[in-house]
Amino acid sequence: MKVDVVSLFPAYLDPLNLSLLGKAQTQGLVQVQVHDLRNWATDPHRSVDDTPYGGGPGMVMSPLVWGSALDHIREGAQTKPTLIIPTPSGEPFSQVLAAEFSRAEHLVFACGRYEGIDSRVGVHYSSSEQWEKVREISIGDYVLAGGEVATLVIIEAITRLIPGVLGNPQSVVDDSFSRPDSFIEGPVYTKPLGWRGLEVPEVLRSGNHGAIEQWRQDQAQARTRKYRPDLLTEIPPEQV
Ligand code: SAM
Repeated sequence: MKVDVVSLFPAYLDPLNLSLLGKAQTQGLVQVQVHDLRNWATDPHRSVDDTPYGGGPGMVMSPLVWGSALDHIREGAQTKPTLIIPTPSGEPFSQVLAAEFSRAEHLVFACGRYEGIDSRVGVHYSSSEQWEKVREISIGDYVLAGGEVATLVIIEAITRLIPGVLGNPQSVVDDSFSRPDSFIEGPVYTKPLGWRGLEVPEVLRSGNHGAIEQWRQDQAQARTRKYRPDLLTEIPPEQV
């Protein structure tokens, strides 16, 4: 997968070179390129924003600069990219979307700042035959200062689903939001057996795989009821 990120603060994206994703890049599974949006600013101050039409506080990012940046990336691409615009007013990000994006060949992330990117940018590229599609994505019901952290979140969730990125592919199957039963994952333990007066549950030491599986299922269900009852409404009653 090829990933391009356009930002006013390229250094914000440095963590993409660490850990699993850093290794995935070394292995050639993912190629990430980060671009400084100011490279496409044309005035002496290298401005990327302007005052909002209709008045109001803050500044809006210019479609002129974004258009030049995105056209440049498209010109250098072999295949039609998908443009992802992180925004709190977008479609909620989820594991289902992460799985969908993990099958894309080329993703381009447009990191907004200030009051966001002029809305015509998304509209224009949505109707362009040169681009696969445009998705406006929110990572949650809160407002960040910029799209960089949202982009890191989305890229990390996507790339760990690319075959070969995780050491053990089974990890993904058991994850919260990926399980066929829709439960979030229950508690996990490692050595030592006792720690500060807290013991690892007996059943996990029993060697009885059936009992262990049933315990994990019960714990996952209890945790889902406690923290995410909204997920239970989506499960057929016979599985609850
Ligand atoms: N005025 C905008 C609104 O209320 O929808 C918020 C703009 S926010 C200060 C600046 C940038 O941060 C956005 O353009 C977007 O790139 C990013 N951002 C902030 N919160 C986000 C969220 N929950 N999900 C995705 N991106 C977010």
